[in-house]
Amino acid sequence: MRRLVVKLVLTILVMPAAMVLVVFGLSATWAVTVSAGPPGGGGGGFEGGRAFATALAGMAPLLVVGGWALVWRRHIRLTPARRLAVGALVVADVLLSVLLGAAAGAGADDDALLPVFLLQITGTPALAVLIWRNGPEQERQRLRAWMAAPTAFCPYCEGNLVGRRAPLCPYCGGDLSGYTLAGENP
Ligand SMILES: [Zn+2]
Repeated sequence: MRRLVVKLVLTILVMPAAMVLVVFGLSATWAVTVSAGPPGGGGGGFEGGRAFATALAGMAPLLVVGGWALVWRRHIRLTPARRLAVGALVVADVLLSVLLGAAAGAGADDDALLPVFLLQITGTPALAVLIWRNGPEQERQRLRAWMAAPTAFCPYCEGNLVGRRAPLCPYCGGDLSGYTLAGENP
């Protein structure tokens, strides 16, 4: 159970961590642009800073997606199609961020940008999960593959099964009864 719990906790922690990074980036941007000049006062420093900050905030979901990919790297099977889909998702998020940044720089209203931004920061990680998710058939395949060539690690949670004989994984409770010698393998 432990390993799975740690992964779930990390999965949740990735979100505030991404937020902190973005807020840090935004504050830094703000500090630089505010010191560059007051709003509307001569140079385009303020609007430029707003554009950059908006574009930067749009990258937050990519930090979340990257963090999740790291936590679940042994569970996510990156087929060529999934690789392509994730690549397209990253490109789409970056493009949307640049567009939002450009709109903000052109003086677009925050009220108009906010709904798009909210959709972006929730939609991008959600789409990534949809791309990575294994269907029931893929889960069965994964288990079959493990049974055909069992490793010392639980196929569900990657817990170390050396010396374990129970039909259930002691860490996540995953059913290993299909392979009675689970854990006796190198
Ligand atoms: Zn397990």
